[in-house]
Amino acid sequence: MRGLQFSQWSILAKILFISCLSVLMLLLIVFFYFIPGIQARIIDEKKAGVQHVVEVAHGVVSVFHQEYKQGILEEEQAKKLAREALRRIRYREKEYFWINDTQPVMVMHPNFPELEGKSLEDHVDPHGKRLFKEFVDVVTRKGQGFVEYHWPRPGGKEPLPKMSFVKGFAPWGWVIGSGIYMDDVVTEIRELRVISISGATVFAVLTLLLAWLVGRGITHRLSKVIVGLKEIASGNGNVDLHKRIAITSIDEIGVLSNEFNGLMESIARLNHFKKVIEEDDTLEDVYTRLWETFHGALNLTQCLIYEVDVMNHTLKVVYPVDAENQILPCNPEILVNCELCKAKKTGREVASMDFPRICRHFLWFESHEHVCLPMSIGGGTVGLVQFIMEKVETHAERQSRIDGVFKAGQYLKESLPVIESKRLLQTLRESALRDPLTGLHNRRFLQECIDGICFGAMRRHKSLGVLMCDMDHFKQVNDTYGHGAGDAVLKTLAKLLRSHVRGTDLVIRFGGEEFLIVLVDIDPGETGQIAEKLLSSVAACEFRISDGRILRKTVSIGYGEFPGDSDQFWNVLKSADVALYHSKTMGRNRATRVDSRMLMAADQVEPPEEGEKPVSR
Ligand code: GH3
Ligand code: MG
Ligand code: MG
Repeated sequence: MRGLQFSQWSILAKILFISCLSVLMLLLIVFFYFIPGIQARIIDEKKAGVQHVVEVAHGVVSVFHQEYKQGILEEEQAKKLAREALRRIRYREKEYFWINDTQPVMVMHPNFPELEGKSLEDHVDPHGKRLFKEFVDVVTRKGQGFVEYHWPRPGGKEPLPKMSFVKGFAPWGWVIGSGIYMDDVVTEIRELRVISISGATVFAVLTLLLAWLVGRGITHRLSKVIVGLKEIASGNGNVDLHKRIAITSIDEIGVLSNEFNGLMESIARLNHFKKVIEEDDTLEDVYTRLWETFHGALNLTQCLIYEVDVMNHTLKVVYPVDAENQILPCNPEILVNCELCKAKKTGREVASMDFPRICRHFLWFESHEHVCLPMSIGGGTVGLVQFIMEKVETHAERQSRIDGVFKAGQYLKESLPVIESKRLLQTLRESALRDPLTGLHNRRFLQECIDGICFGAMRRHKSLGVLMCDMDHFKQVNDTYGHGAGDAVLKTLAKLLRSHVRGTDLVIRFGGEEFLIVLVDIDPGETGQIAEKLLSSVAACEFRISDGRILRKTVSIGYGEFPGDSDQFWNVLKSADVALYHSKTMGRNRATRVDSRMLMAADQVEPPEEGEKPVSR
């Protein structure tokens, strides 16, 4: 039944239906109003014409009568001249006048002169009408009038329907008449009807053809838009995003096509953007590209990208990379407690256009507006993008800004899966480079980054301090208090070592209870002092284990310097390991600097491969 509803019809069907309805209405008006109206008018005009010519004939007779009255003519002479004048008059080629008197006797008939002087009292037409009597009756009663009857055409014998106008000329007792043959009127009406029907038919055909062409034009162009939209909506991957609809008009379809092309343009741009960022190597590359798009294509010139540290509930500005050194538009507290940031907390867009104080941690609310878009992945907010804009007055500027932010949101949405996978990779990489027990970097990390660190130090004409630290009699902890206690001691030692060096120095868990420290950018000779400080700090440290007991432990250290001791970092490291062994043999809880003998021995040994046991002593 749905198909019967007008609203369910196609546009073409609706246009054709309305056109058919209009054509039908027109035909009904033509047949039932226009043609009958014209018919009546034709008959009226004919009657008026006949009446007019009879009045003219009457005038002619009056002229002769006047001449008789004035004594110019004898009465009989005047009558004769009047009769002969009317006998000769023809109008519309064959139409004529006759005269009878009130007896009725025929006075003059141009086609039947044999009737002249004869009584017409009993003259009847094929339908038995005493027509001459009726002429006399009409004239007697009204002076003039129309009478319908049958009478042969001039030269013909068969009586045909006729309508005549008769007018009396009282002075001579004459009835002057003339008429029209009804079949002439019928022929004229038929011709008119044929013309009307033909005209209406041509009009109907043209109207329907035009309606069909216009309807087809609309539906054809609309169907292109629909096919395009369906292809996009089905997302079957075969969509040619460079397809555009040719704009051939500036009507609504033209506007729709233009909008469709704009949509395709946006999708193509977003698609291309996604492909490009998928091929980017790092998360920072993705952030750079996002930032450049916001900045360049969308004219959102002030933009910050934050990342959430889920473990520590903190926020960090990750792009632009130097942003942390600049003044932030927000309360810096949000960096140490990310839950203070409204967009992070709610996971929804926070825009200050309508409510300037929507987020009370945005400090520039008097001069600026902000829009914060959260990066929500898997139900959690992993970061956010903040746009900061100076306040504007005009509606157009506001609208263009809102459009820009909307588009930025689309780019961000496209980037989220890529950001997610890159973050995951980064986390995996991070975990592969860290020791899970202590959280310190592992030997693999050292192998990856040490070349860069060495080059940097040499370029800056600085040294690296290399310290190998090993806990003394650590096995006893495991043996006496259990493996868990051993783990706790290792964690405490790792923390202690980390806290005694600078953030830029490396602290690496090198083996079981063996730690490597690389001091970056020290002055030659400084390593020994730090080694001594570490010895005393460890000795003073209280190692608390799970049952609440406190253990006291010491470490032994072997150390050297790069490039002071060797311009090969790995040689310094191996020598430091030998020096450590020396510290052990000398009684432990002490630090030994590498000497030339150790360095020479190290020179003979290949650098360690990843996964190998620590350098043998
Ligand atoms: P030394 O003073 O000569 O260094 O003696 P030590 O007992 O410290 O040295 P040794 O190399 O004999 O023992 C190291 C022990 O560290 C052996 C191993 O079971 C233990 N160990 C290695 N990794 C871990 C760890 O992750 N957790 C715990 N609890 N023990 C570990
Ligand atoms: Mg040990
Ligand atoms: Mg050991």
